[in-house]
Parts: sequence; structure tokens; C-alpha cells
Amino acid sequence: MKLTQINKTYGNKHVLKDITLEFPAGQITVLVGPSGSGKSTILRSLNLLVMPESGQYDFNGHQIDFRQPVSNKEKLAIRRETGMVFQNYNLFPHKTVLNNVTEGPTQVLKMDRQQANELAREVLTKVGMADYGDVYPSELSGGQAQRVAIARALAMKPRYVLLDEPTSALDPELELSVLKVLLQLAREKQSMVLVTHNMAFAKQIADKIVFVENGEIIYDGAPEKFFSTENPNERIRNFIASMT
Ligand code: ATP
Ligand code: MG
Repeated sequence: MKLTQINKTYGNKHVLKDITLEFPAGQITVLVGPSGSGKSTILRSLNLLVMPESGQYDFNGHQIDFRQPVSNKEKLAIRRETGMVFQNYNLFPHKTVLNNVTEGPTQVLKMDRQQANELAREVLTKVGMADYGDVYPSELSGGQAQRVAIARALAMKPRYVLLDEPTSALDPELELSVLKVLLQLAREKQSMVLVTHNMAFAKQIADKIVFVENGEIIYDGAPEKFFSTENPNERIRNFIASMT
């Protein structure tokens, strides 16, 4: 999937400035950069929660021109293929873990109940939450809740999983349980786009690193070069130093 010359403004604030960025299938693209630089805006553009004013979006061969109106049908199709995982999980509080996961498959994909339950058990096993199907979200730790949110996204079999600071609300020991799940998904070549402030994890999981600053792409390439002490860009070196 690819964004080409994307622009987004809020009022008179130009928050994405002619951004062109590729998100290779089967790879983990990690977006890093200072607060307010535009990372979440890029991620949200990918599932059309944010609509840029201009630019193109190529999703698996399907072309969107942001200067033209985008139909609800196109929006739904792309949202189905881009599972979003938020910082604060956003689980349905009045539904059990199992029903949180089966909601999308039964309501959106019109899967029958038995098939959806099997699928839910499969994805809950993948995130280490198979024993929690009957539990309500309020009884889960943050790390457990986030793993259920990941399972919920996976149940829709999206082409891409989009994660916006999935562990920044978690204590380090709970964070680890979520990072392990993401590393496992990476090994399985699940396409992902991840925003994180955790530089050690970014270095570990990224196939490619994108450094966003002030609505522009300053770096787009291999993690090795990005994290190298030889990185010629002093602002990037300072950013990494300030985050670790
Ligand atoms: P952080 O690391 O703090 O999450 P970010 O890189 O994700 O930051 P964005 O949330 O993409 O940054 O925001 C980019 C800029 O756009 C910021 O200046 C922000 O204030 C502005 N912005 C984002 N969403 C809106 C909105 N709905 N209305 C107005 N301004 C917005
Ligand atoms: Mg953000």
C-alpha cells in the first residue's frame, strides 16, 4: 500500500506536507518522531479515519484520489482490510472477551456464530488469551486488554494491522506481553504499521523506519542506518538519544 503526495490541514495548520510513503506487504513499517509531528494522522489516513485534502492512496491496486469524494462503500472496504489497534484498547465494556472478538466477524463479515467462535478461539490463542473468553474487559490487566484488542483486529483477517502506540499506556512488565505478540505476528509476516516511542522495540521489529517531523518524512529506510551512531542527521541522533 502506498500514499502519494498526501496533504492534510487542520484550519490553517499544514500537518501533512506532500507525504509519499510506501508500506510494503509482509513487512513492519514503524513510524517514529516527536509529539505532534503527524504520525497518528498518517496512520489514520491509511484507514480513512482522517481524509487528506489531496494526494493518492493505492490500497492493493485500488486507487483513491483524495480530491474526489470517497464513497462509503470504499471506506468500509478499506477499513475492513486495515485493522486498527488503539493506545487505550477501546474494547466493548459490556461484552465478554469472546464476544468482543466475534462482534466484527458476525456483524460485518456475517459469519455464523459457531464459525465466529472458532475463529475467536484461534486468534485468542495466538495472543495468549484463550482462557479468558468469558471474562469482561474490566477484569483484565492493560496488557491482557491490549492483546484482546489485537485478537479482535486479527479476527477480521485484515491485510494490514495498524497500531498507534499500542503499549504506551502499559507498565514495562505488561508491555512485554504485548511486544511478544507483535514479534510473533512479525515472524508470521503479518503486514503492520506501528507508531511507537519505544526505540528499542522499533529497532527490534522494524523492517523499515520512517521518521516524521513537522509533517514531513525526514527518514525512510533501513533501521540499521537509522539507529547507527553514524546517522548523518544530527536531529535524528538527538531524537534517538532523547528517547532512550
Ligand atoms: P503524538 O506522538 O503526540 O501522538 P503525532 O505525531 O501522532 O503526535 P498527530 O496526532 O498526527 O501527531 O498530530 C499532528 C498535528 O495535527 C498536531 O499539531 C495536532 O495538534 C494536529 N491535529 C491532529 N488532529 C487534529 C484535529 N482533529 N484537529 C485539529 N488539529 C489536529
Ligand atoms: Mg499520535
